[in-house]
Amino acid sequence: MTRLQRERQLRMRLLICCGVVLVLSGLFAAPEIRAALGRRQIQRDMEAELDAARPQSVPERQAAGGEAEGQEGTAGDSDILVGENAVVEPEVVREKKTVYLTFDDGPSMDVTPEILDILKKNDVKATFFILNYGEKSIPILERMVREGHTIGIHGYSHDYAEIYASEDAFMNNIQKLHDKLLEDVGYDARIVRFPGGSSNTISEKYKKGIMKKLTKRLEKEGWKYLDWNVSTGDAEGNNVPSSQLVKSVKSELKPEQANVVLLHDTSSKQSSADALQNIIDFGIENGYTFCPVTEDTTMVHHKVNN
Ligand SMILES: [Zn+2]
Repeated sequence: MTRLQRERQLRMRLLICCGVVLVLSGLFAAPEIRAALGRRQIQRDMEAELDAARPQSVPERQAAGGEAEGQEGTAGDSDILVGENAVVEPEVVREKKTVYLTFDDGPSMDVTPEILDILKKNDVKATFFILNYGEKSIPILERMVREGHTIGIHGYSHDYAEIYASEDAFMNNIQKLHDKLLEDVGYDARIVRFPGGSSNTISEKYKKGIMKKLTKRLEKEGWKYLDWNVSTGDAEGNNVPSSQLVKSVKSELKPEQANVVLLHDTSSKQSSADALQNIIDFGIENGYTFCPVTEDTTMVHHKVNN
């Protein structure tokens, strides 16, 4: 071996030694240093989440759409939620890559059981914001509970003029359905979805400023309320093709947020049931987890406009 070769070999050994020392020191670094590094990472994650939850750009907000629904909601649907009303308040979102499927205005005797069948087949849990129901629907509600879904309160009545006439009228409207459900099914529902969402402007017609008061009062009295940030568009008519509903979900789901999907399960929303399997398939294929809403879920809230 020449001198040059020996020197080259020595240098190589020295480099390998340095590498090993570096790796080992990384592995055995003091726990407090590692903890500090971890904390810094968590802080960075939280900051990123806050960024993700900040109000969206105008086109996105418009895409978020609104709940233009209501069996008894006689006023024009366009009054309920337009464009920038559906802004999501900045909150730390813990549940990334999560989908909360929510169904409003049920239960119905035809569409709801079909939805429950599809959910069961896929082992997916969802959330149902119910209206007043007849005795025949009790087994459906019992099934929801048995199969691990969450039941939330939409209201005994959906009539905007009646429920948004006063704070007490609204509170009585949810309490009445809560108590009935508790008596019939033994289920203590604590999560509310406002008819028209918390961002609705139609309530202004009946009581100015009522949404600001109700959103505060609900939480003060131990309730939680949930809006949505993914709109399927099934509220925009009774015959929206299921392919269009699936397309909306595909374009609006975001991996960095908790996705609260607005759907309906009244008799007139057959296409929502038809779209469900494709929505679930898309979510699973793209790594999303489907969860029922619980009181620990980060509540998606719209910007209150009245
Ligand atoms: Zn509704």
